[in-house]
Amino acid sequence: PTLAQDVVAGMRDIPDFPIHGVVFKDFTPILLDHELRDRIVADTVARQRGRVDVVAGIEARGFIIGAVIAHELGVGFVPVRKEGKLPSAVHSVSYALEYGTATLEIHQDAVSNGERVLVVDDVLATGGTLAATCELVESCGASVASIELVLEIGALEGRAKLAGYEVHSVVTI
Ligand code: IMP
Repeated sequence: PTLAQDVVAGMRDIPDFPIHGVVFKDFTPILLDHELRDRIVADTVARQRGRVDVVAGIEARGFIIGAVIAHELGVGFVPVRKEGKLPSAVHSVSYALEYGTATLEIHQDAVSNGERVLVVDDVLATGGTLAATCELVESCGASVASIELVLEIGALEGRAKLAGYEVHSVVTI
């Protein structure tokens, strides 16, 4: 089977989470399967090696996969966190989510002027989270070199909110 097929098989569907009517794609079984997890990381690293100065991971699942990717690329890691979690001075962006609204923050001094940032998360749904994260990176004066996702839910058209950015998903359903 291909990597894409294994990722689809490794994801677990959780109906009615976090609210009624939403089918949540749960990637925790993939984290447990170290061979599959390593293949996902290797796929991303092969595309991005030498192209980025730092990885930004989105709370909380983007921390896990993003930190492993940063380790393999040999670059630093920046956490993009939910409101009120980062201790130093932040930039903030609020946005509409698939379910509800949210605010994300980045430390103002986390990335510097001109740095090329790889943004990492597990799932691309409506794209609001990624678009807000790109805005945060740019508010620091850095640029988004690329975006890497494990899974993209095509029907939600998240890419439409990410026009102008390079977006890679290991698998699109
Ligand atoms: P978006 O902003 O609608 O694209 O939602 C993406 C954000 O919500 C990401 O941080 C995802 O981790 C999370 N998310 C939305 N839907 C799912 C899902 O079905 N499974 C896992 N995470 C999801």
